[in-house]
Amino acid sequence: MKGDALFIDYEYCSGCKSCEIACRNEHDFKRGQWGIRVLEDKPWQLDDGSWNWNYIPLPSKLCDLCADKVSRGEEPSCVMHCQAKVIEFGSYDELIAKVADKPKTMIIRP
Ligand code: SF4
Ligand code: SF4
Repeated sequence: MKGDALFIDYEYCSGCKSCEIACRNEHDFKRGQWGIRVLEDKPWQLDDGSWNWNYIPLPSKLCDLCADKVSRGEEPSCVMHCQAKVIEFGSYDELIAKVADKPKTMIIRP
């Protein structure tokens, strides 16, 4: 399969929302519109006493994979501004192998 994609390793997402802001600033979206949202799977307790709690960065239909920036040889804004290095940009074929190796990851092709 061809094309570019985002690889998201949400195990390490802190919920800081820098990706949301960076994406909005790059695209100048209208108020209430977002290229990516950080969703929260609020904490709930499992039978073994441990907690399930996830922040999940999810690109929207407005995500164009930062086509203009990428055409200039730069990384997408969300990738550049995520200090936790949760989001990676690349070819789908290269990124898909990472999903096989690790839980709490996903490949997004908006
Ligand atoms: S993906 Fe990165 S920038 Fe976005 S909320 Fe998670 S840690 Fe922050
Ligand atoms: S790749 Fe670009 S358009 Fe897509 S979510 Fe990231 S910053 Fe927004």
